Amino acid sequence: MSPNPTLEELKKEIFLLIDYAVPESQMDDARQFVTKMQTDRIGLNILKEFYSFLPEAENDSISKIQLLDSRKKTFLVLVTTSLDLYLYVANIERAEFLGKHADGIWDEEVLDFFDTDREEAVKKFQDPKIFPEYIPLGQSQSHCLVCSAKTGEPHQLGCPVEICPWCNGQLANCNCRFTKMGTEQLKTEKQINAFLDLLKKKGRIVFDASQKLGGLRE
Ligand SMILES: [Zn+2]
Ligand SMILES: [Zn+2]
Repeated sequence: MSPNPTLEELKKEIFLLIDYAVPESQMDDARQFVTKMQTDRIGLNILKEFYSFLPEAENDSISKIQLLDSRKKTFLVLVTTSLDLYLYVANIERAEFLGKHADGIWDEEVLDFFDTDREEAVKKFQDPKIFPEYIPLGQSQSHCLVCSAKTGEPHQLGCPVEICPWCNGQLANCNCRFTKMGTEQLKTEKQINAFLDLLKKKGRIVFDASQKLGGLRE
C-alpha cells in the first residue's frame, strides 16, 4: 500500500479489516457505514484506525461518529460502537485513538491543541447527546457541524463558522465586536446582549451549506 492511498484503496483496505473485525450480525451495517464515509478521508482514517486496532480486542463495529471539536483541519470525534464510546482525533493524514469516552482525555498535546484541560474537557464532552453527527466531506449538509444551526438559521453566538457581516471574517475571531462596542473586552451578559442587538441590526449571516467546515478542510 502506498503511503497516500486513494479513497478507493483506503475503503478496500477497511473492507478487508472488517471481514475479521466485525461480528457477522453487524456486518451489513458496518459495511454501509464505511460506504457512507467513502468520500471523506478523515472519516475513513478513523474507520481504518478502529478496525486495525479494536479497542477491546473483541469483534465490534462502529455505528456512529460525532464531532466534538475541530481546529486547524483536525477533528476530535466521539465514536459509538456496539461495545462502548471512544474518542479519536483525526486529520487528513491519520487518526489516533485517545481512549474510552468515560475516561476522558489524558493526552496533554491533544488537550493543548483543542485549547482545553482535562477537567474542562470531561465536563464539555460529557453528554454525547448534544454533539452533532460527523458529516463526511462531499455530502450535502443541512446543519452547521459546530453549533447545529439549520440552513437559514443564525449560528449560536460564538460559533467559529459564523461569518462577520462587517468584515466578512470569522465573527468569533475578528475584532469587530470590540470596535463596534468601543471596548477591549466583551464579558458581561449585558455587553454580549448589546452586541447581539447590534449584530441583528446589521443583519446576521445565517448558516448555509457553503459554510460547512468541509470548506475549511482542504
Ligand atoms: Zn454554527
Ligand atoms: Zn468582523
